[in-house]
Amino acid sequence: MTINFSDICSIGVGEQIKNYTPVSNRLDLKRHLDNLVRDFPGEPVFVVAGGTNILPSDASCGEHIVHLLPSDTVSDTEAYNQYIWAGNSLDSVAWNLNLAELSGIPGSIGGAVVQNAGAYGASISDFVHSVEVYDVLSKRYRVLSPAQCAFGYRTSIFKQNEQNITADSSPKPIVTGVRIIPQPDTLEVRFDQLAKALRVQNGDRLPAEKVRASVLELRDSKGMLAPGFGFGQADDSDRRSCGSFWTNPIVPEFLLRKLPSCIPVYPADSPGYVKVSAAALIENAGFCKGFALDGHASAGISSKHCLALINRDVNNSSAGHELRELKSVIEATVLERFSVALLPEPVIL
Ligand SMILES: Cc1cc2nc3c(=O)[nH]c(=O)nc-3n(C[C@H](O)[C@H](O)[C@H](O)COP(=O)(O)OP(=O)(O)OC[C@H]3O[C@@H](n4cnc5c(N)ncnc54)[C@H](O)[C@@H]3O)c2cc1C
Repeated sequence: MTINFSDICSIGVGEQIKNYTPVSNRLDLKRHLDNLVRDFPGEPVFVVAGGTNILPSDASCGEHIVHLLPSDTVSDTEAYNQYIWAGNSLDSVAWNLNLAELSGIPGSIGGAVVQNAGAYGASISDFVHSVEVYDVLSKRYRVLSPAQCAFGYRTSIFKQNEQNITADSSPKPIVTGVRIIPQPDTLEVRFDQLAKALRVQNGDRLPAEKVRASVLELRDSKGMLAPGFGFGQADDSDRRSCGSFWTNPIVPEFLLRKLPSCIPVYPADSPGYVKVSAAALIENAGFCKGFALDGHASAGISSKHCLALINRDVNNSSAGHELRELKSVIEATVLERFSVALLPEPVIL
């Protein structure tokens, strides 16, 4: 079977994969990883699930790609208060277990744990009971507590060494399943923008389904739903992205004096530090929605959200070099103007 990276990644770039294997349950995943360790010692192995947080390279890809697909058995997809297979969609979990703030984030529940995905005041780590991982070296499953996952802002222990799961030497554990704490039918709204959209005060409680509907509408207005999600246009190029391309930078408080007062500032976990809006920094550095560099036919900034780099041309799976160039220009300009380094959120291969 010939599969290109552009077929399995939401940004639609990347060339043919040499050795592609789809798996849809934990036992097939273990079997396949064990075979790779045995048959291809030392060769790089990379796990892709939803493919919504990856910018693949344009070059033909020599790696072994293991593609985690949603479960093929009813028990794995429906036993939501028990074990959720890592390849299942985050949104289906959000819908079934009332994680309303996370509604409409594309990708898998395993991928969400890896990057501690979040939106509208919540992160997946707020709801994780435990995470099952498979270690290719010891050939053993382990169950990790949230503390052992070392969750942080868009990060976790699984983000380390994420670009290179070499079959014979990487200590990186593969997430095979997650247990999630179901949320009640009414939820506290904890995010200003969401509260405003719902016409309530921050801290008010509302039915989860009402919060979900509002989150999906907000995401749709920003082009932040995956293609084909069921809202808007399935061929909407603003959705051909990796979502937000950069995290909100965490900077020392004293740096705020050097930033324009219009840049939104949020609390950060470390004392003496704050989080600043990456989208506002980018806009204030001169990159508006819909921006593209001269001579670029495919790469651009979404017309709906400054933080999303998009591939405007569904037929150009070689747009990766343009996207990298645009990324570099934006990062260099923001650094020069504001002395703030932007950190990419997706994995760049
Ligand atoms: C339109 C759009 C909107 C988005 N909005 C948001 C948002 O609001 N908030 C947010 O946080 N993110 C957002 N994202 C980014 C992305 O959807 C999330 O980060 C998602 O959780 C990634 O999951 P995935 O299955 O697609 O991971 P992939 O893209 O398949 O993989 C990402 C990384 O995780 C690793 N990985 C994946 N699964 C496993 C596993 N089981 N075990 C070990 N490693 C694994 C991969 O090797 C890779 O390094 C958005 C993306 C898009 C395209």
